[in-house]
Amino acid sequence: MHPDIPNQPKRISHMVAAQSLEALIDQVRDFIDHEVIPLEEELDRNGDRVGSSIDALKSSAKDKGLWAIGHPREIGGRGLNLHEFAYVNEIIGRSHWGQVAVGSVSMQDSIMLHKYGTEAQKEQWLIPIVRGDMYPSVGLTEPDVAGSDPTLMRTTASLDREDWVISGRKWFVSGADRSGFITVFCRTEDAGLSPSRQMSAIICPRGTPGLEIVRAIDVLGLSSGAHGSACEVTFNNVRVSRDFLLGERGQGMEIAQKRLGAGRIFHCMRWLGQAQRAFELMCERAQSRYAHGSLLAEKGDIRRMIAESAIDIQAARLLTLNAAAIMDQEGDSRIAISMVKCFAAEMLHRVIDRAVQVHGALGVSADSPLSRMYREARLARIMDGPDEVHRSVVARALLRDPTAAPWLAPIR
Ligand SMILES: Cc1cc2nc3c(=O)[nH]c(=O)nc-3n(C[C@H](O)[C@H](O)[C@H](O)COP(=O)(O)OP(=O)(O)OC[C@H]3O[C@@H](n4cnc5c(N)ncnc54)[C@H](O)[C@@H]3O)c2cc1C
Repeated sequence: MHPDIPNQPKRISHMVAAQSLEALIDQVRDFIDHEVIPLEEELDRNGDRVGSSIDALKSSAKDKGLWAIGHPREIGGRGLNLHEFAYVNEIIGRSHWGQVAVGSVSMQDSIMLHKYGTEAQKEQWLIPIVRGDMYPSVGLTEPDVAGSDPTLMRTTASLDREDWVISGRKWFVSGADRSGFITVFCRTEDAGLSPSRQMSAIICPRGTPGLEIVRAIDVLGLSSGAHGSACEVTFNNVRVSRDFLLGERGQGMEIAQKRLGAGRIFHCMRWLGQAQRAFELMCERAQSRYAHGSLLAEKGDIRRMIAESAIDIQAARLLTLNAAAIMDQEGDSRIAISMVKCFAAEMLHRVIDRAVQVHGALGVSADSPLSRMYREARLARIMDGPDEVHRSVVARALLRDPTAAPWLAPIR
């Protein structure tokens, strides 16, 4: 464990001058538990269509000063570092709609555009997504090749005078059907270059001729959600200006890894919130359900599930804080991120599974939020790189050099 990491939100940086981190967390918790969670059922039914409850929630978050709080200060956020934001984002994650309601759902794309975008790109794409007026989407994964190995990607783009011409097929592009643009990763460079230098990222506005949203894929029956539908998208000689290249030619792999790194740590933070909520529901049920002569809470099997869940959640929380602190210090965070990504995804699945079990039939019915939480949790082990790939990243690095992560040491 990293020696600088306390498990209480005491370290308050230059952020929120007038408000302590604890007060901010309390305010966010009040908003999520009392405004967002009561509207979940309606949002699950109607998604975030114009006119749905999401508009009222966004306005309320803006009025309360809770909008986009995790963003860097230069783009409208509060200047929280990742370690601080971990505490806040766990609370936002208690509801899967929380991140849409407080404007953090697009954060990894905002950070990507902030770091790599030109001034014109920031004006056109970054400002509207931070304001919540537009959603972004990202196309990396392709149906015909393994998404866990991006060097196999087949979508191409070539320069024709002043335009990039893009051809290929992507799928699982989350929210493509509601987004203003897709950042599409494609092969632009010579096949003789190293695989990490062959890809580029190009911004492709939705509505550009040749870009077709073929279908919204049914994913475990989760038709609408905070990230929108998983879409299959074809690019049939799609032409966009050469000015829509994000970063440099051949920089696509670096940009994708940076975006995914941020995305993974944000997911882990939110998964803590989902697991903690399932844990609270499990404890409440165990203390109120009576069977075979005692409350469930008095039975050894159930107590074991409760204890193991608390241990799981706390271990994931500490790994998340650890990775966040390393990222804040701009150290090499690959091992830390891969460790927490696979542990937190499996933790989430285990904890929600136990909570479902303790609820019996109620747990798998739509009368309980657990049924949806369980299906969302199953996705966590595949999205942003399957768990097997993350374990292999950790093992490869540590086999090469067992001291590659100096923070993997006893606290002195
Ligand atoms: C809910 C959801 C949202 C998503 N959103 C997006 C998005 O917005 N944009 C986007 O581009 N993509 C998105 N994806 C796609 C996601 O990134 C890919 O599914 C993921 O990278 C895995 O690629 P794949 O599905 O092609 O699986 P494959 O690469 O075919 O892998 C299949 C299985 O093979 C095994 N495997 C693979 N590599 C190894 C290895 N090295 N060692 C051991 N076993 C291995 C694993 O068990 C893995 O699950 C999303 C996926 C989901 C589920």
